[in-house]
Amino acid sequence: MSTNYDVVIIGGGPTGLAAAVYTGRALLKTLVLERQVPGGQIALSAAIDNYPGFADGVTGYEFAEAFLRHAQRFGAEVRIGVGATSVAPNGDGTFKVGLSGDDRVTAKAVILAMGRHPRRLEVPGYEKLFGNGVSVCATCDGAFFRNVPVAVVGGGNSAVEEGHFLTRYASEVVSIHRRDHFTAQKILIEQYLNDPKVIPVWNSVVEAIHGDREVEGVSVRNLETDKVEEIPVKAVFVFIGWIPNSELVKELVDLDEQGRVLVNELMETKMPGLFAAGDLCVRPIYQLANVVADGVQAAVSIEKYLENKKH
Ligand code: NAP
Repeated sequence: MSTNYDVVIIGGGPTGLAAAVYTGRALLKTLVLERQVPGGQIALSAAIDNYPGFADGVTGYEFAEAFLRHAQRFGAEVRIGVGATSVAPNGDGTFKVGLSGDDRVTAKAVILAMGRHPRRLEVPGYEKLFGNGVSVCATCDGAFFRNVPVAVVGGGNSAVEEGHFLTRYASEVVSIHRRDHFTAQKILIEQYLNDPKVIPVWNSVVEAIHGDREVEGVSVRNLETDKVEEIPVKAVFVFIGWIPNSELVKELVDLDEQGRVLVNELMETKMPGLFAAGDLCVRPIYQLANVVADGVQAAVSIEKYLENKKH
């Protein structure tokens, strides 16, 4: 296996793989590091209905698999199960990237496409019951909860979309949100609230998740009346936003107060040769189409950057 690359892309989600298609086509020697599954979060999505061009929708798995093949077809080397453990400038304009397993590679340019991970709910019972009824992935765990009531926490696109998916299995979906309305896209809200299995619980927060070995219920406080209600559910699906995976590079790039990487419109960070793209960064919206476009932009910017360096 080689140790010298033109481009190392950290993260094999849609952003990283889109970048790899472009750097591969530009004949840049490309390595993509994906510590979990190719496609990232989107691989776990039950159905993608809003990616232009897929008129009938596509499953996350199919989408991720096609993305991976596309990147590989243009020569990108994709190492699955291998993450970056460090990124450091060498002082000569190149970068050293440490890999899990104690390996290391060098790159003329790096694209940070590590994405983000789900925010945890800071309440008693969350940690203890995580994996035993507490979940952040309806596609992964929804089928375990057939014909029983489940709770969903959150009110954005993820909560509404994943909550709707859970209606396939659960007897009812108790949808707990701290506001009096959801903030997801209108079409998603309409589909969700029209489903008779969905029971919205507005202006409310979960205070505790109960159960010993498995989830038995939640305590829910109404923020207007301060009344606490015990709701029996067998699972709690939490979709309350995301935390960017920027820890690795926090000394190298500028971050906003939420830890998102600051980039310009060319996906450049403040360090020459270090680019960042997608969910990891401050973006105006977080839609699949625009994080894919970010990856494309980063790749094209790198092509120009390396070309300029040559001359
Ligand atoms: P989000 O838009 O940040 O929504 C997070 C939700 O969790 C909000 O309802 C928020 O309430 C609530 N929340 C945050 N902290 C909480 C806490 N401690 N306790 C209780 N509730 C809490 O996250 P998201 O829904 O995962 O979406 C993230 C991005 O991905 C968005 O840009 C979204 O458009 C995109 N996305 C798109 C799709 C799609 O297009 N189909 C699907 C999924 C995600 P407040 O509103 O009160 O803060």
